[in-house]
Amino acid sequence: MKRVAVIGGGWAGIAAAVTLADAGHDITVFEMAPQLGGRARSVAAQDPAWDYDNGQHILIGAYRDSLALMRRLGVDPGQVLARLPLALPYPGEPGLRLPRGAPLIAFTRGVLTHSGWPLSARLGLLVAATGWLARSFRCEVGLSVAELCVGLPAVVKRDLVEPLCVAALNTPAPQASARVFLRVLKDALFGGAGSADLLLPRRPLSELLAAPATRWLGDRLRLGRRVRQIDLGWHVDCGAGGEAFDAVVLAYTSVEAARLTADFAPAWSAVAQGLGFEPIITVYLHSAGSSLPAPMLALREGPDAPAQFVFDHGQLGGAPGRFAFVVSGAAPWVARGGCAEAVLAQALRELTWATPPVIDKLLTEKRATFACTPGLARPPTRIAPGLWAAGDYVEGPYPATLEGAVRSGLAAAQGVCAGTAAKGAASGSPTNTP
Ligand SMILES: Cc1cc2nc3c(=O)[nH]c(=O)nc-3n(C[C@H](O)[C@H](O)[C@H](O)COP(=O)(O)OP(=O)(O)OC[C@H]3O[C@@H](n4cnc5c(N)ncnc54)[C@H](O)[C@@H]3O)c2cc1C
Repeated sequence: MKRVAVIGGGWAGIAAAVTLADAGHDITVFEMAPQLGGRARSVAAQDPAWDYDNGQHILIGAYRDSLALMRRLGVDPGQVLARLPLALPYPGEPGLRLPRGAPLIAFTRGVLTHSGWPLSARLGLLVAATGWLARSFRCEVGLSVAELCVGLPAVVKRDLVEPLCVAALNTPAPQASARVFLRVLKDALFGGAGSADLLLPRRPLSELLAAPATRWLGDRLRLGRRVRQIDLGWHVDCGAGGEAFDAVVLAYTSVEAARLTADFAPAWSAVAQGLGFEPIITVYLHSAGSSLPAPMLALREGPDAPAQFVFDHGQLGGAPGRFAFVVSGAAPWVARGGCAEAVLAQALRELTWATPPVIDKLLTEKRATFACTPGLARPPTRIAPGLWAAGDYVEGPYPATLEGAVRSGLAAAQGVCAGTAAKGAASGSPTNTP
């Protein structure tokens, strides 16, 4: 049994802490915020029954480790998530819909029966997808999504590739990594029955993981404790003297991890420091008595239309009359301002309302995710003997997602458990390489 400090209580830190506790280690979780959950948490509303999410989150059926972690903490994903077959309807258009069944057949049937695309576009997508499949969904590391899809019909790029890319990678197609995009497509579309299903939260985000983890971890948790310094003897210092541990999992953001490791792991710190970020803006509108034709609709982004998706929380068992508009890859809108007003105008133009919608809340996460660009160097799980990194930015196959965060937490915990073997390894050998 080792004494292990897990620093940071987002989904990565929770995954690491639970795995290490299950393996019999004596863990302490330090979290600077008053609650667990990190970026994937609830934000207090005036009426506590209807807390906001710190940004609308979508899970997919392929998030197997996240779903397993929820179950480990006593959460039934079937209760807290609405499972819908993948569909990308636009206002007034049915869009692409994948029927249930074997992934390859479902994808082919879904594309062929898309009534909004000409036959040439449907065949063009199937030919391209067959090529990706034949190459096992791998491509040159330096390729962007726009370059990968250059030969695809324009309507397929507009209605499928661009919205999926910005939703999954939070990076616009011209700047996004084709390799990571293909990996997401592979796991979602061809990862087994149900992998592509959309899992939309029916409860405030904290109820999915953070609140159950808080109960499960109990007195192993130190909330409201910001770690200011660590040293190579694994003293963890929150400003009131240090505490010594046998191993440490750094499960906080890349910026903070780079700062705290700069002295004793400069190479690792430099890679973490090199990551760029993309913002996400969530605009909540309220319109009493209104509902959308589906719980989630895709929207066409444009110079005066910021949002790519809208979610009807009333239909998902959340606050009635609340609509979450998602603006991913939102850097231009952070610079320009006026995003909430532009979303309201977009909503009035594109959707039908029972009562005039009003702006309810605007949430801007400037560092929502790392910018998932071609050839991006991401730091490995292992920083130094006894020191491991967990977080959605750590080297792995996925973009910054809940599943990426959970997998990184599991990998860090496995590294700690492997103990002496890992200490002997020559240099930062990640356990979750793509
Ligand atoms: C608006 C928005 C929408 C998103 N939508 C989706 C989505 O639809 N699907 C999806 O899969 N992903 C989505 N993501 C990404 C997802 O939320 C993240 O990938 C995931 O939450 C990252 O978890 P993490 O544990 O790696 O990091 P974080 O959640 O950032 O956790 C880090 C924790 O460390 C703590 N901390 C920092 N410094 C210290 C310190 N010195 N001492 C102690 N504690 C410290 C922080 O308070 C925080 O709790 C979205 C993100 C945002 C912001």
